[in-house]
Amino acid sequence: MENIYGYTLSRLENYFIERNEKKFRVIQIYEWLYKKRVNSFDEMTNIKKELIEELKKEFNLNKLKIIKRLDGKDVHKYLFALEDGNKIEAVLMKHNYGNSLCLSTQVGCNMGCTFCESGRLKKVRSLYPHEMVLPILQIESDLNIRITHLVIMGIGEPFDNYDNVMEFINIVNHPKGIDIGARHITISTCGIIPKIEEFMKSGKQVNLAISLHAPNDELRNKLMSINKVYKLKDLIEVIKKYIKVTKRRVTFEYIMLKDINDTPELAHELVNLLKGINCYVNLIPYNETSHHRYQKSPKENIMRFYDILQKNKINVTIRKEFGSEVMAACGQLRSNYEEEK
Ligand code: SAH
Repeated sequence: MENIYGYTLSRLENYFIERNEKKFRVIQIYEWLYKKRVNSFDEMTNIKKELIEELKKEFNLNKLKIIKRLDGKDVHKYLFALEDGNKIEAVLMKHNYGNSLCLSTQVGCNMGCTFCESGRLKKVRSLYPHEMVLPILQIESDLNIRITHLVIMGIGEPFDNYDNVMEFINIVNHPKGIDIGARHITISTCGIIPKIEEFMKSGKQVNLAISLHAPNDELRNKLMSINKVYKLKDLIEVIKKYIKVTKRRVTFEYIMLKDINDTPELAHELVNLLKGINCYVNLIPYNETSHHRYQKSPKENIMRFYDILQKNKINVTIRKEFGSEVMAACGQLRSNYEEEK
């Protein structure tokens, strides 16, 4: 039996057409699921009984299990159990512009960034679309809020689970579904070039963020092993192409690691790398974890780096720090939970 929350509207339509059912029924069902948020087929009172019975044989409306919730100031961190027992995280952040949810795309991660907690537990598997949809529905209901923004930046590499992530985006983005606007969705990648090209061609209005973290290959190789496969020069090339084709601005994420990548020399090198590219740089205060030798940059280093970028006309922001008190570093809650056991 399949989980119905993993079905895009058009996939569900095909299912109906094959069975000679009216297509408009699908929109009704979508509305029951995503507007009225019912928990069973029996509550779908405008659908005829026989069809309800058919649907019950094919689909379930199973939810994930919330196994832990940690609350901080304006932040709620969730640990969910999937049906097969694997665990995933999601982090809800309250901003002045709305509520943003940081979602995972895989159980574990194989990208092997040396500073990141997620990769300490290798990838077990990729998530299915419904496993990305359900945290949204369940957190909205748990906190009695509406989620207005999605950042696909939790555990995992979204472009290593490309097809399911795109299906997921189609579900949440649909006006008859959860209806989160594409421009309110950001997808973050460590830089898998062929998938960036595919994403560019998809024509989606979803924002793209690139985890950069270093302005040259030598340092980036040390921090992110993906750089040994997709070199910085080629990454920048494809980003320039992406911006030209989509006319959209790209965000570069740059984690601030003390004495590793936060020096004035590297700030100037970054300026040279990004000069003339329509982008933002988002400086991320590093969330220290007990398992990595890196330290977070002191405020002065961050400000010094910020000033150099700004004086050289690179759009730059410093990410608001959320949730170090709730272990919001990617993968920290999950890896600590696995260790406690
Ligand atoms: N694999 C994707 C998305 C998941 S990581 C990617 O690499 O972009 C999302 C972001 O969190 C990345 O920029 C990553 O470098 C950053 N990150 C990882 N560990 C972190 C930590 N301990 N503190 C702050 N940011 C971290």
